[in-house]
Amino acid sequence: MEFAERVLELEPEGAYYMLARAQELEAEGRDIIHLEIGQPDTPTYANISKAGIHAIQEGFTRYTPSAGIKDLRGAIARYSSQRLGLDIKPANVVVGPGAKPALFFPTLALVQPGDEVIYPNPGFPTYEAMIQVAGGFPVPVPLSEEDDFSFDLAAFDRLLNERTRMVVLNSPSNPTGGVMPLSALEHIANAARERDIWVLSDEIYSRMVFDKPADSIYTLPGMAERTIICDGFSKTYSMTGWRLGYGIMPESLAGRVDLLLNHSIGCTASFTQAAGVEALEGPQDHVDAIMSEYRRRRDFLVSGLNQIPGLSCRTPQGAFYAFPNIISFGKPAHWLADYILDEAGVALLPGTSFGEYGEGYLRICFANSMENLEIALQRLSSALEKLK
Ligand code: PLP
Repeated sequence: MEFAERVLELEPEGAYYMLARAQELEAEGRDIIHLEIGQPDTPTYANISKAGIHAIQEGFTRYTPSAGIKDLRGAIARYSSQRLGLDIKPANVVVGPGAKPALFFPTLALVQPGDEVIYPNPGFPTYEAMIQVAGGFPVPVPLSEEDDFSFDLAAFDRLLNERTRMVVLNSPSNPTGGVMPLSALEHIANAARERDIWVLSDEIYSRMVFDKPADSIYTLPGMAERTIICDGFSKTYSMTGWRLGYGIMPESLAGRVDLLLNHSIGCTASFTQAAGVEALEGPQDHVDAIMSEYRRRRDFLVSGLNQIPGLSCRTPQGAFYAFPNIISFGKPAHWLADYILDEAGVALLPGTSFGEYGEGYLRICFANSMENLEIALQRLSSALEKLK
């Protein structure tokens, strides 16, 4: 069977491959600690679940406008205006089932076949996929460990050319936990303004920061008219399975993205949207509590990793991932990740699940209990000792 060119290069997210391997071992009776999948280990907060259940019980179970219900677009506009210190209108907000549609659909609306799109590597695998499906040419820019995994700006400058249509940013970052400094965002914003380039800024981890808020390129002069923010509820509110996210973008682009949603997904589940209003407008103390818990886990994990001979790990500033350097072992990252799963029963991801420049690193998700993190560290230490 002949498939369309746009799907020929697609590959699944690496996390699914590792999860499947780990589950095979579990079926054979092995005890596995799961540090591969990037999702909170806490259930959705009770007030949010209740709002969703109440909406179903009240019969709020029908189609909604494709771009989202008025109440939710309003709540997102208010929340985002406050977060960014700007006046964002409901007309700038498009709701979708998860944050992924706010990556995919603006890309489909803006990128023409042959256009180049610069994206972070290592980076979230959907970036490369959406560029390919749009017929664009994916141009990876390496992240540099010395700069806390911010863009390698010299490489960025070299990669820019007259075909560059869009730049994808992700700060705080999956998989590195890095937060881009304001100076790097200003550098990229200057290039975007000069060359008339769009920026797609994936800020799904914007609430998950440890020391100070992450800056957003959207707030820099002249950037709101050429930036799309992708954000969502999955990580902050433990709502990965509800499927709820949104994009913030200029009104005219929002209209085009609305049409793409209208003809593909139709609309986001009505009761999920009702739960989203409660997430944003209800009590926020759970979010603060889980962030202090993640900080405790981060500090424990990073200090433990740095005590293992051969590993070195920077302290992530956001999200819930550690990205230790494994270069001293002289093994490919995918080999080491497989070895750690088989030998130690710890599932984690090779940096190369996030692109070629992820070689030399592993990604460890620390949204897991302190007990499991402690056992994982002990097992990792013994397994890696054998390679020395
Ligand atoms: N962007 C990044 C950087 C992510 O890590 C994820 C999920 O892992 C997403 C987007 C997608 O989020 P959602 O599950 O809400 O579609």
